[in-house]
Amino acid sequence: MKLARRRFDCLVIGAGGAGLRAAWQLAEGDAQVAVVSKVFPTRSHTVAAQGGVNAALGNVLPDSWHWHMYDTVKGGDYLGDQDAIEYLCRAANRLVIELEHAGVPFSRLPDGKIYQRPFGGQSQAFGGAQAARTCAAADRTGHAILHALYQQNMRAKTHFFDEFFAIDLLRDASGATLGALVLEIETGDLLVIESKTTLIATGGAGRMYRTSTNALINTGDGLAMALRAGIPLQDMEFIQFHPTGLAGVGVLITEGARGEGGYLVNNTGERFMASYAPQAQDLASRDVVSRAIHLEVAAGRGCGPRGDYVELKLEHLGEEVIAQRLPGIRESALRFAHIDPARAPIPVYPTAHYIMGGIPTNRFGEVVAPERHGPEEPQPGLYAVGECACVSVHGANRLGGNSLLDIIVFGRAAGNQMLAALKAQRYHRPLPEEAVERALARVARWERPGTESIADIGSELRQVMEQFCGVFRRQEVLDEGVKRVRALRERLAHAGLSDQSRTFNTARIEALELENLIEVALATVVSAAARSESRGAHSRVDFPERDDAHWLKHSLYFREGETLDYKPVRMKPLTVSAFPPKPRVY
Ligand SMILES: Cc1cc2nc3c(=O)[nH]c(=O)nc-3n(C[C@H](O)[C@H](O)[C@H](O)COP(=O)(O)OP(=O)(O)OC[C@H]3O[C@@H](n4cnc5c(N)ncnc54)[C@H](O)[C@@H]3O)c2cc1C
Repeated sequence: MKLARRRFDCLVIGAGGAGLRAAWQLAEGDAQVAVVSKVFPTRSHTVAAQGGVNAALGNVLPDSWHWHMYDTVKGGDYLGDQDAIEYLCRAANRLVIELEHAGVPFSRLPDGKIYQRPFGGQSQAFGGAQAARTCAAADRTGHAILHALYQQNMRAKTHFFDEFFAIDLLRDASGATLGALVLEIETGDLLVIESKTTLIATGGAGRMYRTSTNALINTGDGLAMALRAGIPLQDMEFIQFHPTGLAGVGVLITEGARGEGGYLVNNTGERFMASYAPQAQDLASRDVVSRAIHLEVAAGRGCGPRGDYVELKLEHLGEEVIAQRLPGIRESALRFAHIDPARAPIPVYPTAHYIMGGIPTNRFGEVVAPERHGPEEPQPGLYAVGECACVSVHGANRLGGNSLLDIIVFGRAAGNQMLAALKAQRYHRPLPEEAVERALARVARWERPGTESIADIGSELRQVMEQFCGVFRRQEVLDEGVKRVRALRERLAHAGLSDQSRTFNTARIEALELENLIEVALATVVSAAARSESRGAHSRVDFPERDDAHWLKHSLYFREGETLDYKPVRMKPLTVSAFPPKPRVY
């Protein structure tokens, strides 16, 4: 088959906030950049981010980047790498102001400064009073950021391949990444994109769970591409369940709703968070609030006819505040639950939201994969940023508002690092034909019919992950989860596409996505079954305590043999002194 080929300096896979921030940096630096996205760029999941982006601007309450750093280290239950966290929090102010100048219409205070709302896990003076650190454009911050970044890329002449699906990375025998094989969704045509540097910015994998705040497109494609290239995934056991998904639906009700003064009640009308987090209450860290809701419902204090949710009360805020600060929430509650939050409480329950783990990188966005038990080496030509990467600033639990910050800070850093790499590498390395053929085999595999249905396997996977790898975990349950996901992978090997469905590229894409999702789910449940402690979002009923003596380390999952390895947490910040692990109370 004759394949079309294109060559660029840089290939960015993914056009969410992470990919677009990096591409902007690259295009402004005069590199030839291609951005590939399976949906039109401004439909990427970043568009759905509601609450806002953290920066210690101190516009509403006193603040400092160093307090932000402390909160992030503590929020992540001490598993975050403190050099990367210092870098994140120090860069925040400048880069949020830069976004403002790039055209993000932030909400304003009466004095004209950027509006900031309180969010979970934020404190003043290292664990003191609540801080207000989250810069918001009403409850549509991600939408505002993504559109501004897209416009900046248009201006900088980034080349977009919209609605192209990346199949696999192309690598030579030495492990250098040379580009990717992509499929044009509309036509089904395949294209080889050769690049000197390749950035994975494909976002999360929330779609491995039945109820999830994530878009249908968040299927962990980049994570699976890395696994197939022999790169391990880091800290995959840490899945964030957002406490306030619309019950039964999963649609997100932003933490900003509690930041604006909303609170949770059980079926007796009690504000139960007071007994789980006496100081921070409803604005405790997300893992803490999710567990509390779970426990209330399990203890028979849930609301509704089946007692299977709690309620989020916003009525007391008044229509004006809701209309001004939370218009999108009102719309979601009306559309999906026929409830007007200005008049009645919203039924909520925890729902899968964010993956803390991902492709291991350093703070320059370089993918660092260790030889087993050996030193970490940057993988030549390969970078990753955003939700698919693990740098690791979120540790075992991400704070709200820190992910939009992550994609901006490390998107820019990766862009700079790639520009530096281009200076040292003027020519494309030769692309071996075997690399292309390996990637083509992934597509060819779906040219035959099979006995199993993609849709059935997909819905079973989401059910299994919810049941066997949810908010609370136990050894027998996780072990059973590993068995079931493996069995589903086996069934997928016998799945195929009928002659009729093969005529639709969307069916092909769905199959390729499910293949990816299963790889990522297996990484998640295998990593979770091995970690015998509770830390951040990983709550083991059988090991309820954090165990720093044995488990203050990052896990690394390798696809080959489904094995795990571990590496130390980087406890040393860049300039300030470290925050050593302490008991984590809110
Ligand atoms: C509902 C919701 C609300 C949130 N609210 C907040 C918030 O208020 N504050 C905060 O800090 N964080 C928030 N988050 C988290 C944050 O928005 C995300 O973690 C972040 O936006 C991810 O950005 P990204 O660029 O890494 O990925 P995404 O925005 O998910 O983009 C991924 C890109 O990769 C592309 N892609 C994926 N696979 C392929 C493939 N195979 N081929 C080609 N292209 C591919 C997609 O087309 C897309 O362009 C929220 C998340 C959700 C789901």
